[in-house]
Amino acid sequence: MGSKKVTKIGVLTSGGDAPGMNAAIRAVVRTGNYYGLEVFGIMRGYSGMIDDEINLMTSRSVANIIQRGGTILKTARSKEFFEPEGRKLAYNNLTKRGINGLVIIGGDGSFKGAQKFSNEFDIPCIGLPGTIDKDIAGSDFTIGFDTAVNTAIEAIDKIRDTADAHDRLFIVEVMGRDAGYIALHSGIATGAENILIPETETDIEALIASLSEQEKRRKLVNLVVVAEGDKFGATEIASIIKKRLPNADTRVCILGHIQRGGSPSCLDRLIASRMGFHAVECLMNGTHNVMVGILNNQLHYTPLDLAIKAKQKISEDWLRIVKILAS
Ligand code: ATP
Repeated sequence: MGSKKVTKIGVLTSGGDAPGMNAAIRAVVRTGNYYGLEVFGIMRGYSGMIDDEINLMTSRSVANIIQRGGTILKTARSKEFFEPEGRKLAYNNLTKRGINGLVIIGGDGSFKGAQKFSNEFDIPCIGLPGTIDKDIAGSDFTIGFDTAVNTAIEAIDKIRDTADAHDRLFIVEVMGRDAGYIALHSGIATGAENILIPETETDIEALIASLSEQEKRRKLVNLVVVAEGDKFGATEIASIIKKRLPNADTRVCILGHIQRGGSPSCLDRLIASRMGFHAVECLMNGTHNVMVGILNNQLHYTPLDLAIKAKQKISEDWLRIVKILAS
């Protein structure tokens, strides 16, 4: 808990971009203005804080952005912010404008930076989980996840059509370096026969056995959804399958960056608006250095130092569902 009254706040987006970040920025600016705070937009994450790219925003600066993907504040990864000298420069740029509170929309790396900065300079920081990967504990959803999964589903449905026409086996790689949530949700929702995620050990022999069993049963369309953080990855898995099951007509599709773009889904706009609104209320009522999340449809505040450490676990229930429904 902090004691100083927060009067001027800065908002930034940092790390990987995620659809819905704009809705969160809009909520922070408009809520701040509603309560009589000055709100500054910081460009390119921590880089803009160091390079002094900081602009006063008004309700009108965030008009017509709720439906736009990407982030109007741009985002970046800043090497300088890892260094004490970089953070000191950033602090000087904030204090010369009287900014005494920050809202950081980003992933766990961005929260690490925020935690360090806040400990060093006593500037309260509120984190909003903005990442398509849903790899942060303390929130059922992260801003961007729902849109990314829906994009993946749309693409995989199309792949299934062509797989069906040619009786092909498709290995589809979706995003998720450390977390398999996009693969898990999009795989279940598209009826994938196998889903490979970094949270579980990929057993190649079991995969081959399952595919050859399906071949015997003349199940001709086969979809394997693989998270990019899987031990093998789509390309290697496909080359193993080609060697072991030469009769299977195997293709690879890596969905890549399309999963980051596009207009945010309704859910992402709603959670981003709700989180942005509560971030400002936190700064005003002295609940500092927390991540604002939503758990069981209730607001949930996780201290930043815990949000950094804890990863969201994949429940056994989901893993059982995957096995049973794919049979
Ligand atoms: P994503 O989940 O999309 O990768 P992220 O927020 O985890 O998003 P990172 O690249 O890990 O993305 O972090 C964003 C920025 O946060 C870094 O470029 C750096 O400026 C800052 N940052 C990360 N870790 C630290 C740290 N330990 N100390 C200081 N700053 C950090």
